[in-house]
Amino acid sequence: MSPPETGPTAPEPQLAPGLIQVLGKTFPFPRRHFLSVLDLNPVEVADLLDLADGFVVLNRQTSKKLDLLKGRTLMNLFFENSTRTQSSFELAGKRLGADVVNMSPRASSISKGETLIDTAVTLNAMQPDLLVVRHASSGAASLLSQKVSCSVINAGDGQHEHPTQALLDALSMRRAFGRIAGLRVAICGDVLHSRVARSNVGLLQMMGAEVRLVGPPTLIPAEADRWGSEVFHDLRKGIAGCDVVMMLRLQLERMDGVLAPSQREYFRFFGLDREKLACAAPHVRVMHPGPMNRGVEIDSEVADDLAVSLIQDQVEMGVAARMAVLAALSARLDND
Ligand code: ASP
Repeated sequence: MSPPETGPTAPEPQLAPGLIQVLGKTFPFPRRHFLSVLDLNPVEVADLLDLADGFVVLNRQTSKKLDLLKGRTLMNLFFENSTRTQSSFELAGKRLGADVVNMSPRASSISKGETLIDTAVTLNAMQPDLLVVRHASSGAASLLSQKVSCSVINAGDGQHEHPTQALLDALSMRRAFGRIAGLRVAICGDVLHSRVARSNVGLLQMMGAEVRLVGPPTLIPAEADRWGSEVFHDLRKGIAGCDVVMMLRLQLERMDGVLAPSQREYFRFFGLDREKLACAAPHVRVMHPGPMNRGVEIDSEVADDLAVSLIQDQVEMGVAARMAVLAALSARLDND
């Protein structure tokens, strides 16, 4: 008798050895929430980056799914618009096996007068395990974390912080240069309104990079001299010799008065084009958290040049870095 036919079986997802080790030792993440880079220490950041490296390997395979978050529910609660962050948290949750629900309360309860806390407490009653929050007010995620029983992840609170963006940026840099310590990074443009800048300054300095801030005086926060970064008001001088030039979006929606000249004028002085970029180190890599205002803070010729631009890598690393955060928090959930 011939043996029963067996169909082809899907290959098991392969993970980088680093990831198995980190998961195997039960990632020692001591917090329930992920709110600010300032809550982290360099060892935790390095562990999260190692984990994320493993998830990059997984995400490049045909079969990308694990069951680390099987049975768990992740809610994306975005009070502000988002393309990259929301979709990458959704993918990250799904690839780890969670059920994912997306909420954009602008369109529903908030327009009916429900407050941030009412909305969160209502959602909390549906027993999510992880709540990913973006809100226009600084401190919103931290406030919510005191009102709900699940883990809260800050996906951007006003001008304050965007910790997973800083983590994915650090991952992109570490993969491009093999290290973060000793890199000279210029963060350029609308620093005043940027939560990305605040989180990056905190995390990059913690990991040993030298961070410079570059922008017109009206777009550099008054307290920036206490951030431990040198401030420049001339783009060419600010990026001179830099390994990484990180451009920021001009956040017109957060500007009350006239803080920037016309967009044409802004591009002339603070827009990154090839000519200005020549002042940076020869091996410079360019970053931007997106969404980009092409022709305002960055020229398309630079943004789309894959020999210098890490912007697409940042999008890819966003999914892996967020998987690492969810995995770390889930190890903690398992111990609760
Ligand atoms: N996407 C980033 C943020 O949410 C950067 C930006 O919007 O300019 O802060």
